[in-house]
Amino acid sequence: MQLALRRGFFFPASEIYSSAPSGIYDFGPNGRALRDNIAAFWRRHLVQHNDMLEIDGAQIMPRAVFESSGHLMGFNDPVTQCTKCHAMHRADRIIADATGAQVPEGTPEGKLDEMIEDQGLACPKCRGTLSKVKRFNLMMAVMLGPLQDQECYLRPETCQSIFCDYLRLTKTMRVKLPFGIAQRGNAFRNEISPRNYLIRQREFAQIECEIFFDPEQINEIGGFDAVKGTSMRFQRIGSDDPVEMTAGELLEGGVVSGRLIAYYLAEVQRTWEAMGFPHELLRFREVGDDERPFYSKETWDFEVLSDQLGWVELVANNYRIDYDLGGHQKGSKADLRWTAEDGRKFIPHVWEISAGLDRTLMCLLEAAFRQDDSRKYPYLSIPPQISPYLCAVFPLVRKDGLPALAHEVVDDLRNHGIEVTYDESGSIGRRYARVDEVGCPFAVTVDYDTPEKGVVTLRDRDSTEQATVDLKELPGTIWKLYNGLLPFSSLLG
Ligand code: ATP
Repeated sequence: MQLALRRGFFFPASEIYSSAPSGIYDFGPNGRALRDNIAAFWRRHLVQHNDMLEIDGAQIMPRAVFESSGHLMGFNDPVTQCTKCHAMHRADRIIADATGAQVPEGTPEGKLDEMIEDQGLACPKCRGTLSKVKRFNLMMAVMLGPLQDQECYLRPETCQSIFCDYLRLTKTMRVKLPFGIAQRGNAFRNEISPRNYLIRQREFAQIECEIFFDPEQINEIGGFDAVKGTSMRFQRIGSDDPVEMTAGELLEGGVVSGRLIAYYLAEVQRTWEAMGFPHELLRFREVGDDERPFYSKETWDFEVLSDQLGWVELVANNYRIDYDLGGHQKGSKADLRWTAEDGRKFIPHVWEISAGLDRTLMCLLEAAFRQDDSRKYPYLSIPPQISPYLCAVFPLVRKDGLPALAHEVVDDLRNHGIEVTYDESGSIGRRYARVDEVGCPFAVTVDYDTPEKGVVTLRDRDSTEQATVDLKELPGTIWKLYNGLLPFSSLLG
């Protein structure tokens, strides 16, 4: 976190004002680039790989949407207030922190009051007495119009835009079931105790896919053979340790409701592992009846083990059945039924892959963080496809025409679509340190051989090895390294 804050990956929004609310972050140049690249990676490996449709939905939606989705009624956290210092606390968290046991979602307020009393719990800040537990709705209202009388809300999950756009897309995009709709966008929740930087924010980015399918054809999904052998770790209810299972074994063992679900769990595993998360730190956790969201029939939380935070949920995989489209059909009176080839009319079921972009970013920084004896400074081993910059360009010295030549190299690389950062200040060693720290995988040094022989030195971040590359071949070489088509070692003489 020190590195992330020092190198401006992210920082509190509106921080120059003391009235800035907590749990809201801005992303600086390195964080903005990393965030976009993670989203682009997700698009390429999950969304485009599965031919999904993409939308960019509005963040403000009318009250009726959230009456239909159930959020106005059901999207609540239990809170208790200190009668002395007036601080608000999540009742379930205070109990969980004191007892070490998870408090099931939906535990009635009276039961929580009893638990607080039985444990003799007081305000964690001032030890004052805690009030009776109440439900607190996490939605953020926005009043529109000159009279501020049109009640709208900031969406608490991006998928509600997908459900509202479903009808238009089925009419305009020539789709057939099963098909997915994907979206990157912001969601807003009035979290009572935002904490752990990007892990629990009030405004955060989600990358979500909703897969619509015929429930009678939950086992019909193309491409299953390609993922059948994909191995994943599963934490089942009631067992202490995760077990390793392939997508094929999941299906044969009846662990999931159908082939479509086994397929998309494997797709999530493949995508996040390729981002650089180590296999042994990932797991799918089975979420029981008492903890599942109100709309889900089957949930697998995809989690990563953080050194500092324990298990962190990155992706919620939910079987939302026909809950959302059914609710919106009732609330809007639009006919959202699908007509099958045999004339059957039904509301499609939905398998959801709801990922936190910002949580992925923060946990990826931790997974990529390296500190070893070979360097005096820490560095980030982020895959080239995600790194904030693909390449850095340095002139060896700030004289003899080398900076001008280095600028020509920058222009040439940019013309080939390569993200470049240029630096000419300080020693070469310091410049390597600066780009290693933000995870830039390759650095090009323009030296005295460049004008004479038309070559540059290309350095690999992870191995620190250096190769001499012909200027004319530089963009093509970097693209091959980016796509994994060329190992860096093959460039060494
Ligand atoms: P949690 O149990 O941690 O509160 P959730 O189950 O409420 O999360 P979902 O509603 O399933 O989360 O949201 C899907 C994903 O969005 C989560 O897996 C997480 O990555 C991300 N997410 C949810 N809430 C937040 C938040 N307050 N800040 C940052 N990311 C979040």
